[in-house]
Amino acid sequence: MIPMVDLKRQYARLKKEIDEALGRALGETQFILGPNVAALEREVAAYHGLPFAVGCANGTDALLLALRACGIGAGDEVITSPFTFIATAETIALAGARPVFVDICPDTFNIDPEKIAPKISPKTRAIIPVHLFGHPADMAPILDIAREHHLKVIEDCAQAFGATYRQQRVGAFGDAGCFSFFPSKNLGCYGDGGMVITKNEDIAAKIKMLRNHGSATRYYHSEVGYNSRLDELQAAILRVKLPLIDEFNDARRANALQYGSALAGLDLLLPAERPGCRHVYHQFTLRAQNRQKIADALADAGIASAVYYPVPLHLQEVFLKMYGPQESLDVSEASAREVLSLPMFPELTAEEIRRIAHVIHHVR
Ligand SMILES: *Cc1c(COP(=O)(O)O)cnc(C)c1O
Repeated sequence: MIPMVDLKRQYARLKKEIDEALGRALGETQFILGPNVAALEREVAAYHGLPFAVGCANGTDALLLALRACGIGAGDEVITSPFTFIATAETIALAGARPVFVDICPDTFNIDPEKIAPKISPKTRAIIPVHLFGHPADMAPILDIAREHHLKVIEDCAQAFGATYRQQRVGAFGDAGCFSFFPSKNLGCYGDGGMVITKNEDIAAKIKMLRNHGSATRYYHSEVGYNSRLDELQAAILRVKLPLIDEFNDARRANALQYGSALAGLDLLLPAERPGCRHVYHQFTLRAQNRQKIADALADAGIASAVYYPVPLHLQEVFLKMYGPQESLDVSEASAREVLSLPMFPELTAEEIRRIAHVIHHVR
């Protein structure tokens, strides 16, 4: 059996350090916004070369807190990709604004900057590019458009911790960068966790306040906020893993390289890496017209595969009910029909990749 992700292998390797870190945190008993959360915030900010990072309960809340801290709410429109996890657009609606979907590039599955301008209206206040599957969105033209139209940029980095665009790590380009530490993300904890990074002191202060019931001083509340703190034990685990993230991402890249050569010459569209980008392969996602046959053959051989994502967000029932019929977005819809993600994690072995490729070669 080869799963999509095997978290046991990484825990086996890091067991001693993680168990010790958990033991120390348990001994300290500062469970809410304790020393590990504060230290992880400093370490993640430094990793990105930014002054501020604020932990929160999960990646969805990271997006919601960033939207609220950027002042986005009722009557506003936010441009984003329809080819992503629901949280990207769900949080726009939760903030009271409306998501406006722009189609994606066929090679990276990320928002197509050339299609943004026609979707800008007087109500547009922000763009949320998603660095999907670990490949950076095309930030230079996105930042140009945002500057021209005075839009905020909130990066959804949930799948791309450590990915770089023109030598800069993603999350540091816009007004805020939002991360998820869901266990299967490329930097994952052992429960839920999230973080927002920013160069803007006011946004950082606002997020700190919002994550803690809209309170900067205990029992004084200036906004309707949330209970959305990063858990101290999760922060302790993440502090063990953060120093290894580049190594983990390198291992994913090596696996992707091996997949690429092992699957070359077949009638598949393999994941691309654009010049100037460092893809971290949170997922290894190909496109195939015979996706179901490949998935079935893999399943017969005890190999997992997955479809991320079968329904683009502009066609999700929730948004059809809220906003009525949407115009079609061809690249997203074609991608939803053809994508297939293969097992990918740092500890996946060369022998396993050979076995997976062997099965795919024999699909007729
Ligand atoms: C996982 C994910 C989120 C949400 O993160 P959670 O920690 O699960 O709330 C948001 N956006 C994208 C693209 C994701 O993959």
